[in-house]
Amino acid sequence: MSRADRIAAAGLRTAKEAREAANKRRRTDKRRSSQKSLEIESHRHCVVCWKPIPLDSDPAVCDQVSCMENNNKRESSRKRLTIMLYLFPGIAILLIFLQLMSGGS
Ligand SMILES: [Zn+2]
Repeated sequence: MSRADRIAAAGLRTAKEAREAANKRRRTDKRRSSQKSLEIESHRHCVVCWKPIPLDSDPAVCDQVSCMENNNKRESSRKRLTIMLYLFPGIAILLIFLQLMSGGS
């Protein structure tokens, strides 16, 4: 092996080592970030102000009265929307049905 070959081989080796070290570092970083996401999953947030609250709190609001009221308001408006979502097609079907009944006779 000539001197130039040895230098080239040494350079190749260090480059490979550097790449492996970088890969290892990246892998440990990924593991650390996944651990962090696990820590985040152990609690939930208030749906109004996003303050961290215990996982088993139901409804998902913090103990502030304004947040509870806000959540109740949202809940009732959502319920109303659901009712309308069923009520309006129901009325439409009823009207079509009535029209068919009167037209047939
Ligand atoms: Zn809140």
